Amino acid sequence: AKRVVIKVGTSTLVYPDGAINLRAIDQLAFVISAMRHHGREVVLVSSGAIGVGLNYIGLKQRPKAIPEQQAIAAIGQSELISIYKERFAVYEQKIGQLLLTRDIFVYPKSHQNVMNTFEALLAQNIVPIVNENDTVAVDELDHETKFGDNDQLSAVVATNIDADLLIMLSDIDGFYDGNPNGDTGATLLSHVAKVNQATYTLAGGTGSRFGTGGMVTKLKAAERMIKADSQMVLANGADPTIIFQILAGEPVGTLFG
Ligand code: ADP
Repeated sequence: AKRVVIKVGTSTLVYPDGAINLRAIDQLAFVISAMRHHGREVVLVSSGAIGVGLNYIGLKQRPKAIPEQQAIAAIGQSELISIYKERFAVYEQKIGQLLLTRDIFVYPKSHQNVMNTFEALLAQNIVPIVNENDTVAVDELDHETKFGDNDQLSAVVATNIDADLLIMLSDIDGFYDGNPNGDTGATLLSHVAKVNQATYTLAGGTGSRFGTGGMVTKLKAAERMIKADSQMVLANGADPTIIFQILAGEPVGTLFG
């Protein structure tokens, strides 16, 4: 794969107790810098703004009011990007930040502008780091402006920039034939060629405390990748160097497509 999109969930970036997982962020920076060094073009889609924001201002829990959540996302996004900037700098890799909303892909002019930005960044050996623009896209029901989750945003970005592969890192080893949190007999599926109704019925409700997507949004992302003749690998982000194994074609996680 020459062009790769990597999506990391909050569960990879923030510990369950709310502390920031600097080791994981450092490993991500290391792996992505090494990938660039070997001629690959990489885009990182990163969640975690609210988790990092809560940590930054010393709150334990997400406030209920949407404006307060947006404020924390704004605080956390700048902190998150400065952590990335610092960690990538260790590996002499520069980054750029793109905050996107769904409507960007609806309006041809904005769409073109965003694509131009991606291409220009990649051509200059910069790693674009993408997140949803929580200041603009308000709540989960606002379908016109909001993706709702970075799982789908990452697949939209990946298909639009013609990526060969979407690597989705989560808090689980891959896609199981039942929710492994509860169903102890669930087994990992190493290859899923097609995502259909039967696949969706295997995905339980929402997952981790801080994450928003759950498995359904990951399946939607996989479906979008397969439709575009691309692939997606879902794997455990606890150790982001797993990306090296994925790129080497080793059987880790679940390959979709
Ligand atoms: P992230 O924060 O990384 O985006 P989520 O917590 O949103 O991750 O989604 C991952 C969770 O989805 C898993 O931890 C698991 O509890 C849940 N899940 C539900 N059904 C399945 C399944 N069939 N296979 C794997 N995980 C599943």
